Amino acid sequence: MPPMRLLIVEDEHLIAYDLKESLERFGYEVIAIADTGLDAVRQAESFRPDLVLMDIRLPGEMDGIAASEQIQNQLQIPVVYLTANADQATLERVTASRPFGYVLKPFNDRILSTTIEIALARHRAEIAAQAAQHIAEAEMHRRTEHLAVVSHEIRTPLAAIRACADSLQRYGNLLPPEKQRQQLQQIQAAAESLSLLLEDILLLERMHSDHLEFVPMPIDVISFCEEQVEVWRYTSNHQCQLAFSSEGGPCITRLDQKLLWHVINNLLSNAVKYSPEGGCVSLSVSCQPESIGLQVKDEGIGIPPEALPLLFEPFHRASNVGQIPGTGLGLAIAKRCIDLHGGEIGVDSTLGQGTVFTVRLQRR
Ligand code: ATP
Ligand code: MG
Repeated sequence: MPPMRLLIVEDEHLIAYDLKESLERFGYEVIAIADTGLDAVRQAESFRPDLVLMDIRLPGEMDGIAASEQIQNQLQIPVVYLTANADQATLERVTASRPFGYVLKPFNDRILSTTIEIALARHRAEIAAQAAQHIAEAEMHRRTEHLAVVSHEIRTPLAAIRACADSLQRYGNLLPPEKQRQQLQQIQAAAESLSLLLEDILLLERMHSDHLEFVPMPIDVISFCEEQVEVWRYTSNHQCQLAFSSEGGPCITRLDQKLLWHVINNLLSNAVKYSPEGGCVSLSVSCQPESIGLQVKDEGIGIPPEALPLLFEPFHRASNVGQIPGTGLGLAIAKRCIDLHGGEIGVDSTLGQGTVFTVRLQRR
């Protein structure tokens, strides 16, 4: 570890050099000596020491306490006071300035170095606590934002359920049978979308809290992927052509089948959903000795470049989705599943022409 870099603030040169020698004997690096409060602030700004040793009585307008308040508050550098006996008023100002340590002159080398070490450790602990607090605040902010989006997503299907149920209750048998059936179907569809939303939210929460298990087992990746394309051929009403291709098989490798299902289904779901005019959707699998490549390609609406940086963040949707339904959770889930495999996902898209998602998973 490089030596800790200290700044000495002391107007009596003899004491300053004596102090410098003692500190160097203990393995510290003294990067500068300042002799006024103003000089101390300037030197601290330019050298950014790990700690400042500060005499309280200094010539000029700014004494050691004022200088140390600026250095601690503005530069977040810890200060230890080094001073001869001080009067009560000065001691009160010293306490109010929350120093990291206080050593009386004439100083004892051991006490000095112990005080410096305690000050450095306390400062490190404070920095770590501040970082943890920032992370907790960011997490809180993320949760509040997510809650707002989720409430919004829940309101739409709930309103549909309420409106259809009201209409059936009020007019019931007066409505033609076809209309009654339609309203029941709308209730079912809304309930289905609510339950899918709930499943995705719970899955994402489990992923965030690291409660999602990663259970790799040998699977035949090519057959597994081909089966998923088959399923999508039936569910997508043939509005898109769905193609499958593979190279390098047979390909038996250890992957988590449940997680891989989320990856492929979210990518195929998007490719089909964001191709409202049809066009070809394809999934290709390439088996290399070290890794497996998956590619999902479509000729749909494409993704505007400004949406790309946040594409894998939960609840982010691009501006060109129009009336196409979605909550912005699918890619966040797919990304997390790929991360758990130690893999990577990339995207290449041209607005109005189509999109290619590429996944690479390590073989194990
Ligand atoms: P869901 O949670 O139902 O999957 P979603 O499809 O909106 O909702 P994601 O799958 O996470 O959410 O996708 C995020 C956004 O990325 C989409 O809203 C869309 O803007 C864009 N996107 C993803 N895939 C494609 C694609 N193949 N073509 C065009 N845009 C896409
Ligand atoms: Mg999606």
